[in-house]
Amino acid sequence: MIKITLCLLFAVIISTAFAQTPFEKSGYRKLTTHKEITDYLTAVAGANKHFEIEYIGTSSKGREIPAIKLSEGKFGADNSKIKVLLFAQQHGDEPSGKEGALLLVSRFASGELNYLLKKIDLVIVPQMNPDGGEVNRRRNGNGADLNRDHLILMQPENQGLHKFFNKYMFEASMDVHEYSPYSQSWIKFGAIKNSDEQIGRLTNINVSAAIRKYSGEKYIPYIKKYITEKGFSCFDYIPGGVPEADYIRYSTFDINDGRQGFGSLGTFSFIQEGKNGRDSIDNIERRSKGQMTGMLGFLEYLSKNSKEIKALVKKEREKTVKGEPKNVAVQMIHVSDGSTLKAPLLSVATNRDTQIVVKNFRPVVKSLFDVTKPAGYLVPESRLELLVWAERHGLKIEKYVPSKRDIIEEYTITKIDSIDFEGDIVADPSFETKKLTGDNLAGNYMFIPTAQLAGNIIVQALEPKSMIGLVTYKSFEHLLVKNAPFPVLRLIRK
Ligand SMILES: [Zn+2]
Repeated sequence: MIKITLCLLFAVIISTAFAQTPFEKSGYRKLTTHKEITDYLTAVAGANKHFEIEYIGTSSKGREIPAIKLSEGKFGADNSKIKVLLFAQQHGDEPSGKEGALLLVSRFASGELNYLLKKIDLVIVPQMNPDGGEVNRRRNGNGADLNRDHLILMQPENQGLHKFFNKYMFEASMDVHEYSPYSQSWIKFGAIKNSDEQIGRLTNINVSAAIRKYSGEKYIPYIKKYITEKGFSCFDYIPGGVPEADYIRYSTFDINDGRQGFGSLGTFSFIQEGKNGRDSIDNIERRSKGQMTGMLGFLEYLSKNSKEIKALVKKEREKTVKGEPKNVAVQMIHVSDGSTLKAPLLSVATNRDTQIVVKNFRPVVKSLFDVTKPAGYLVPESRLELLVWAERHGLKIEKYVPSKRDIIEEYTITKIDSIDFEGDIVADPSFETKKLTGDNLAGNYMFIPTAQLAGNIIVQALEPKSMIGLVTYKSFEHLLVKNAPFPVLRLIRK
C-alpha cells in the first residue's frame, strides 16, 4: 500500500515537474532558448516510456533540432492511427509558435491530452530554426529563408525535416508562423489585420482537389469556430497588400513553403499564422496561448475525423503514385470569382474592430500554362546538382537504359521573357521541342519517373517554363540558357 502511494506521489511530482515549460516558469517573460528546449523535451521524454526524442537534423551552425514523438505505444506501429507533424519557428523572429508548441508538449506531459493519442501518433518540432531563434532573426545561420527552401532543399534544417517526413510519411501536418500586421502601408490605410490566428489552406492547383475542397469546406469553418470559442480571434490567412491598391489572396501557390511542400505529397496540410507582437516579447503569453489553441484545435479535429482523413489522404496519394493528374499547371495566377471579402481589421484611429469589404479579392488560382506529365525526366549523370536535389527529396530514381521504343523530348530555349509571379518577376522561356528516340541519346542519363508520390513536385520543379521551378532559383538558373538545349529531357512511353 505504502509502495503504491509512493509510486502515485512520484508520478504526480513527475507530471507537475514537466507540466510547466521554461517559458511558463519564467512567468511568460523569457523566451525559451535552444538548450532549454532540448533539456525540456529530454526530461518530458524521459518521464514517459512512450515518448521519445528524435533529432531530425543539425542547423547550419551545428545546433541539433529535436523532435518529440508522442504516442501511447510504439510510434508509427499502429496503422489505424493518423500520423501528424507539427513544426514551428522556421522563422527565428517568430517565437510564439515555439512557445505554443512547448505549451502543448507540457499538456501531453501532464497526461491531460492522452485521449488524443488514442487516434493520433504525434510529432512536435518546436524550433526548426535554432540559429535564427537564438538571435531573434528570420533567417537561418546561412542567411537563408527556410520557408522558401522546401523545393530546392539547400538548407540542412529542411533536408532533415524532409528526410524525417519521408521516414514516417505523415498524413497531416501544420507549419506554425507569425504574421506582422504593423507595416507602414497598412497603418496609413487606417486599419490593420488583427486576428490572433490566421489559418492558411493549400492553394496550389496541382495539389489534390479533394483535399483542398475538404480543407476549405470542413476544416476551416471548424477551426475558426474552435479558436473563437476559446477566446481568440481567427480568420483565413490572407496575405496581399492594402485593399484595392493591391489584391488579397489566400496565400501563395508556390510549393517552396512548409505547408505546400508537404501538401504536394497529398498531406492534409496547413499553415498557422499567429499575430506577431511589436517586438519578440510583446504580448507573448497571449500570442503563445493562441498558437497552442490553434494546434490543439487541429489535433482535436484530426482525432475526431482520423478515419475520414486517413482514407482521403490514402486515396489521393494512390492517384499521384499512379501518375495522375495527366496535366500539371506550371504557370498560375490568382483571379477573382466575383466575390468580395469581409476582412476583420482593427481601426488604427479608434483601436476598435472594424470590417472592410475587399473588392480586389482573388481567392481562385487558375492555370496559365499546363504541361502534359511525361512518364519521367532524364537527367544527365553529369548534373550532380540535380541528382543531389532528387536525393534530398528521397525521389525514386534509376539509371536510364536506352530503348528505341522511348520517345524523348528535348527543349531548345529560343527566347527568355519574364512573367509576374505574385509581384516577383521570373523567367518565362519559350522553346522548341525536338523529338528523338531513346537509342539516339548521347551521354548517360538517370531516369526520374513521375509515377511516384512527388510526381507533381517533379514536374513543377523540372519544367523550364515553371514559374515556381528550379530555374527560378539562383542555384539552378544556370540550367536555362538561350539558344541551348535544356539539359533535362522528357521521356514519353507509348
Ligand atoms: Zn514565418
